[in-house]
Amino acid sequence: MGGETRFDVEAIRRDFPIFEQTMRGKPLVFLDSAASAQKPSAVIDRIADFYRNEYASIHRGVYQLSEVATFEFEKARGKVARFINAANPREIVITRNATESINLVAQTWGRRHLSTGDEILITGMEHHANIVPWQMLCQETGAQLRVVPLLDDGSLEPGAFERMLGERTKLAAICHVSNALGTVNPVKEMIAAAHAQGVPVLVDGAQAAPHMAVDVQDLDADFYAISAHKVFGPSGIGILYGKLALLEAMPPYQGGGSMIHTVSFEKTTYAEVPARFEAGTPDIAGLIGFGVAVDYLAHIGMDAIEAWEKELLAYANERLAEIPQVRLIGTAPGKASVLSFVIEGAHPHDIGSILDQDGIAIRAGHHCAQPVMERYGIPATARASLAFYNTKEDIDVLVRGIHRVLEFFG
Ligand code: PMP
Repeated sequence: MGGETRFDVEAIRRDFPIFEQTMRGKPLVFLDSAASAQKPSAVIDRIADFYRNEYASIHRGVYQLSEVATFEFEKARGKVARFINAANPREIVITRNATESINLVAQTWGRRHLSTGDEILITGMEHHANIVPWQMLCQETGAQLRVVPLLDDGSLEPGAFERMLGERTKLAAICHVSNALGTVNPVKEMIAAAHAQGVPVLVDGAQAAPHMAVDVQDLDADFYAISAHKVFGPSGIGILYGKLALLEAMPPYQGGGSMIHTVSFEKTTYAEVPARFEAGTPDIAGLIGFGVAVDYLAHIGMDAIEAWEKELLAYANERLAEIPQVRLIGTAPGKASVLSFVIEGAHPHDIGSILDQDGIAIRAGHHCAQPVMERYGIPATARASLAFYNTKEDIDVLVRGIHRVLEFFG
């Protein structure tokens, strides 16, 4: 990228009340957005306002308040559909998070379509959320998990995905962006390759949606999973995008209220999509907050966000390269704003604790990607992750903090 963009980050930071806080007496430097992102006032205020003025149960009420709440809930579903350019809001299934979205596909589509000898193809950089549900399904059905290997820089071994798609492959489940390495996978090309073999693809978009414009129709993704809390919305709400024809052919996920058409003790018939997958009372205010969050992002512009984060990442790479003791894990070309690193002789938890003394919030651990850690022969990394509300000063503070870590361990 190079060059300065005219991104008014200071104005954006004023939208996020958390940045008025100090931590350990220092201004908060929040570098853990890949775990969960902070919330703008627009989201916080709308949720409070909804509970104050519009709250009621949805879908079945015959009174005005319930009609208002239902309207707002469904309007938010439409906003999320537009955010990822889904063709139809009915393709947006409301879940608790990306994890539940993936489990939903495993337990419905997966149980119906997999049997002994079939294969599910994933990559070596998946989050546990895109490994364990498939392993559980394999145990139940006798199918097998196959894993596309990684190069040392954290990108997929070229051609391996295409080579590993075979007669037995029934599904590919791949992350768009890796939370542990920052690698951005060429999902559009991977989906095209899978489709050429008749294999549907689930994309774990948890780390992509906060950083880039996602267009599920352009990608031609069959399923796409997102968590609201990573896109500056509330926690406890997420979505599964699924192509309508696929969703319509899938059996229900959980049984209960809202997902039925008729119930008798002899026989129950199920509701249309997406209600069929939405048993029980959802997080109504959560979805409405999610809708405000995606409106907020659209207002700033995902392209502007991506450009600013690229500039920040380039700056961070430059500054971290000045410290020879810092080894970055994940250096794939075109990677997103995740900086996983290790320092010889310093445990990532100690790095995190020392940085915390300076008000810097980073993540230390295996980032729910233990196979990635194994691939690089390390138990854990320290991870600084950026969002569009971060500044170059945040990175300067991080670099000063790392120098303190080195003094401590030097
Ligand atoms: N996939 C990726 C790549 C992630 O980073 C995460 C969250 N760390 C998840 C899936 C799961 O998200 P959630 O915990 O919100 O379900």
